[in-house]
Order: sequence, then C-alpha cells, then structure tokens
Amino acid sequence: MTPRGPGVLVVWDVDGTLLDARGAGHRALDAAVRAVCGRTEADPLAGMDFAGRTDRALIEEALARAGRPDVPWTAVRDRYGHELAAALARTPAVALQGAAEALATLARDGRFIHVLGTGNLALGAWLKLRSAGLARWFATGGFGDAHRDRAPVLRDALRAARRHVPRPWTAAVAVGDTPRDREGARAAGLGAVLVATGRYGADALAAPGVPVLPSLGDPRRLADAIWEAAALRDEGGQSGPRI
Ligand SMILES: [Mg+2]
Repeated sequence: MTPRGPGVLVVWDVDGTLLDARGAGHRALDAAVRAVCGRTEADPLAGMDFAGRTDRALIEEALARAGRPDVPWTAVRDRYGHELAAALARTPAVALQGAAEALATLARDGRFIHVLGTGNLALGAWLKLRSAGLARWFATGGFGDAHRDRAPVLRDALRAARRHVPRPWTAAVAVGDTPRDREGARAAGLGAVLVATGRYGADALAAPGVPVLPSLGDPRRLADAIWEAAALRDEGGQSGPRI
C-alpha cells in the first residue's frame, strides 16, 4: 500500500553510513588519476582526507597533487566509472550492519521517504549501492558531480525529490557518518542524524539537536531519532527547507 499524507524526507549518505566499499572507491580513483595523468612518482591520493567529501573535490585535489591541475576533472570522472565497476567486481561493497533492515523498516513505516544525498558521483553511488544490494530503496537524490561541498549536494537532493517523489514531506533529515554531513545539513537547512559507523566516534559527531546512534542496527531507534530531528527542524523557527 502506498502511504498517504506528508512524510519526512530521509536524505542518505552512502559510504560509511549504508555501506563499506572496502576501498574500491579509493583504488578506482587512484587508477583513474594514474591512467589520465600518466605515471606519477608520488601517490596523488596519499594523505588525502576522503571522509564526507565530494568525489569532484577529491578528483580536483588529486589532479593538483599529481601536478596536473590543467587536466579537466571530467576526464578522471569518465575513467573512474570503469575503474570502480572493475574494483567492485573483484571486491563487492558490503552493506553495513542493519542498513538493509533499516531501509526496509523505514519504508514500511509509511512516515519516511528515502532519497540519496552523497558526495559520490551519481554513477559511483549507484554502482556501490547495487554492489551492496541496497539500490532498490532509492530512485533519486543529490550527488557529488556538480559540487565540492555537501550543502549544495543536499539541496540538489531536495530538488530531485520535488521532481520525482509523488508525496509531500514536512521536513528533511540527512543521515550521515561524518562532521561534514552534520555541517552540510545545517548549511542546507536540514535536520541531521549521525551514525558512528564510519571513521568518527560519537564524541566527534555530537552536536546540539543532532542525535548520534552507534549503528543502524536498531531500526526503531533510528526512526525515533529521525522523527526527533525532523521535529526539531519544525520547531526551530526556521522550519527546514522551503518545500
Ligand atoms: Mg560517509
């Protein structure tokens, strides 16, 4: 049965929140940069901070580190898709504990609408989600192709949902695993729920009005946390994004 009435838009991060790509994205980006730039003496990705950043920002930084800022980032993007598909064929992504059940439970609940809000390139997000068996829960979202920061990615997710989701919603809540998810949600006017399943612990993720969960392993607790974050947006005097 299709739920009726307004819901809460749940805007999902991918890596470290829903799945572990087990280094496939890093290996694919490294291979793509090397293929496009030719052999480089230094590893262009060594020491780069990947957590919570968009793939476009990562590609542009990698090109600068490789001494080739003149190369269009789209050349790496185009190669990256092939490299990522090959990397995932060798080593599939795995859904994090509780992710599949959490998505199913929230979809059944009727109050929640799933969309993506991820720094992955769109193609990369779908490849990883298909590899981990989670793609079926999503139809649209915001991606890291056009932006270097998360806030505009999340705004894209809201725009995509307005076009493609046939139900109204009263608030939007981002679910992520890094401080950048939290700050991006704040800047874009979304609520946030964080899960300490990636590289950041609860202490690094904590902030007023932002529930932090140890994992997605308790779907009812997750639903309550999202509902709480949505309500805070409603009552905060700036009732979330205009929708
Ligand atoms: Mg993440």
